[in-house]
Amino acid sequence: MDTAEIRRRFLAHFEAAGHAVVPSASTLADDPNLLFVNAGMVPFKPYFLGQETPPFDRATSVQKCIRTPDIEDVGKTTRHATFFEMCGNFSFGDYFKEGAIELAWDLITKPVADGGYGLDKDRLYPSVLVGDQEAIDLWMKVTGLPKERIVQLGPKENYWSMGVPGPGGPCSEILFDRGPDFGPDFDAATLGPDMPVELEDRLLEIWNLVFMQDDLSAVRSKSDFDVAGSLPKKNIDTGMGLDRVALLLQGKKNMYEIDLVHPVIARAEQLTGKTYGIDREDDIRFCVVADHVRSSMMLIGDGVTPGNDGRGYVLRRLLRRAVRSMRLLGCEDRVLPALMPVSRDVMGPTYPNLFTDWERISQVAFAEEDAFRKTLQAGTQIFDLAAGEVKSSGGSTLSGERAFALHDTYGFPIDLTLEMAAEQGLQVDEQGFRGLMAEQRERAKADARSKKGAHGDTAVYRGLLDEFGPTEWLAYETLETESRPLALLSGGAATPRLAEGEIGELVLDRTPFYAESGGQVADAGTIVFDGGRLEVIDVQRPIKGLVVHQVRVTEGELDPSREVHARVDPEWRIGARQAHSGTHVVHAALREVLGPTALQSGSYNRPGYLRLDFGWTQALSPQQVRDIEQVSQQALRADLAVAWDYMTLEQAKEWGAIALFGETYDNTKVRVVEIGGPWSRELCGGTHVDHSSQIGTVVVTGETSVGSGNRRIEALTGLEGFAYLARERDVVAQLTGLLKTQPDDLVGRVQGLTERLRAAEKELERARLAQLLGASAQLASGAAQVGPVKVVAHRADGAGGSDVRQLAMDVRGRLPQGEPGVVVIIGHAEGKVSVVAATNDEARARGLSAGELVRVVGPLLGGKGGGKDDVAQGGGTDASRIDEALALVSREVATRVGQG
Ligand code: ATP
Ligand code: MG
Repeated sequence: MDTAEIRRRFLAHFEAAGHAVVPSASTLADDPNLLFVNAGMVPFKPYFLGQETPPFDRATSVQKCIRTPDIEDVGKTTRHATFFEMCGNFSFGDYFKEGAIELAWDLITKPVADGGYGLDKDRLYPSVLVGDQEAIDLWMKVTGLPKERIVQLGPKENYWSMGVPGPGGPCSEILFDRGPDFGPDFDAATLGPDMPVELEDRLLEIWNLVFMQDDLSAVRSKSDFDVAGSLPKKNIDTGMGLDRVALLLQGKKNMYEIDLVHPVIARAEQLTGKTYGIDREDDIRFCVVADHVRSSMMLIGDGVTPGNDGRGYVLRRLLRRAVRSMRLLGCEDRVLPALMPVSRDVMGPTYPNLFTDWERISQVAFAEEDAFRKTLQAGTQIFDLAAGEVKSSGGSTLSGERAFALHDTYGFPIDLTLEMAAEQGLQVDEQGFRGLMAEQRERAKADARSKKGAHGDTAVYRGLLDEFGPTEWLAYETLETESRPLALLSGGAATPRLAEGEIGELVLDRTPFYAESGGQVADAGTIVFDGGRLEVIDVQRPIKGLVVHQVRVTEGELDPSREVHARVDPEWRIGARQAHSGTHVVHAALREVLGPTALQSGSYNRPGYLRLDFGWTQALSPQQVRDIEQVSQQALRADLAVAWDYMTLEQAKEWGAIALFGETYDNTKVRVVEIGGPWSRELCGGTHVDHSSQIGTVVVTGETSVGSGNRRIEALTGLEGFAYLARERDVVAQLTGLLKTQPDDLVGRVQGLTERLRAAEKELERARLAQLLGASAQLASGAAQVGPVKVVAHRADGAGGSDVRQLAMDVRGRLPQGEPGVVVIIGHAEGKVSVVAATNDEARARGLSAGELVRVVGPLLGGKGGGKDDVAQGGGTDASRIDEALALVSREVATRVGQG
């Protein structure tokens, strides 16, 4: 049965049982604690946590999931992918344990001819949490299986919680016995409480049913938590691995051989000339290639671009691992242009954006491969250097530090280092390398922990939301309103009052303040009350539905029992609206100029300023930047109407609205903002002008790179834009005044001036040199006679190193032929003293060395130097003893030739 049919049957089964079919959300989680959606329940979390009322009692979905912690298992186990699809059914206070077990069992055991999966009942083993007698009884009742077939596992496997106080509950995993080829024999009745590792591939977990029934008051670890009582509304959350069921129904050894993944392996076989299924190490590489190509394609499809942290880093790692695995399989050409289209063709029928957005997706992926190929090249050079050093010092082991540096700095994977070392007959201190890696991991973990702590007190906010319900949010309707304080916090905890000068957090029943989101900064303004005033510093929505103002008391003392008047600074808001609408205009202009593959990857706007990051691999030309600015200006002049509406995500997509990050399924509709009808349509919650002309102006001030594959365009709007232009006009006015010319002639004038300046500098240089050398004939003829040696020891103030050298060489050439001669010139310019000594053949024949002379006088000049016997150079910083140094030269020569 192909995967599409398994997917279809799942949804049909649950739809027939009264479940609302909900489309998959993006893989990018709209949740500060999650990088990616890793389970089908994630988009429904607000319902499970009671933060929002679900619009249905039962739902079903097939959700795109990313699990980066499983990356190391890919290809090594038969059942872990970094991207997979999770089929789920959810009950919000509706059916519970019995219903969930019945529905699941029915689907998997029903004959294929009747719409089920037809799995052999004799090979299925339900598992329950140790001692969950209720579940054991239900499984026996529903399936007719004896107690001995039910596996009891500990909380590590079979208890679910979110790691924080809140809902939790026991699970039931459904396991399928794949037979003796995949692991040793076992006795289900005595298995557990831990699942032996060697049985995990044999007893394949295909489905996990979570019975959300407990209210947890503390969670210390997966197996250590306190149950305070049972939940008033019990929920069901299940997840069935689509890919795992496909592997069973398609009779494959592992998940990478199913219809949605294997075609990439087949293509990789062609490219590498190797055959899958012969060598274990190679097979793992084939699986990694197929898995990672698919995951990275899906991530790019959802808007991720490669980067050095967060989601971007995960993507980078996936792409690079795929490329590298192909290399280890023997293919050194560009591989993604050959592999990724194969994955697109099998995944595209379910996710059509892979076709429609292919140009952009492929561009991002291929550019990253090219960048990585360069990295590999640089890394290879560093490696060769290191290997050369090891060998020339007689060693045979590359140190752990070297391997780590290659990995950390050049992104050079250890297995590549190992392989290349082996080729050169070297070993690698792997243990040292792993030690350093472990240290780094520890640092990363500590970092992650400290970040988690920052979200630690969302519990406080959740409590407020539970108590008071969502904030009435009036940002689109009004700039000021009366409102009632609901809570006052200081340092994350409730406080009865805030004194003058203090900073705290204030929650109101209603507010006109825009909370930072979608790239738009929070509103500024004031909150006044009888006898006092607060300045609003920041406004955030730490959890959905709750608006929190960070305030400073500028007057009086805030007592939350009194009414307040909240007022957004109207000037600020006008600026914010201009900047946000300006961002949409620039985005649309960008796509008009560069084409639809230029897609925003991030944005930020505050009154007067905006910036837009977008996926693009080359720098824009000045002409392109000008075009973008011009298209924007035309859109302002056309006075396009700005409008917004709420609609379902489906409608929004049909409308061509550009959906950016973090889009998740939501029962409330999405907000689409359009400028000039279809010209610009984006999913957006920001505040906007009513007509494009109100933006005032859009002045593009820069275009720069922000990491691999991303560019940033910056612009000024409204008054800020005009102010910028006015400043430029001032500069031009000053210049035309100074140069006594017209603006249009300014560039020509400056060009002419710089050319003349350059010519004058050259001329000056020539004159200086001529003067310097002009002195050399005189210096040569005035040489002192020290015994048989002609000695010139001269001070050249104002001469720098190269002049001094040139002079010394020139003087030496002018000394009488056939007689020993020594020249020492000491120059002094710009705080530096330079000394050059030169000797001729006859002088050297008498044992006089230029190098020696420089070494002797160097210390007097506060420096050192040396060189060869014929010419030597040195320098220092002390000019006070130059004369002394010169006198020393003659004495030194006299001593050397025996005349002292
Ligand atoms: P395992 O112990 O096998 O890693 P899990 O306990 O992490 O699985 P759950 O979190 O319960 O799995 O997820 C629900 C279902 O999703 C699993 O029963 C399985 O079918 C599927 N699943 C989980 N992880 C993966 C993965 N990395 N690749 C493919 N399917 C997966
Ligand atoms: Mg897992």
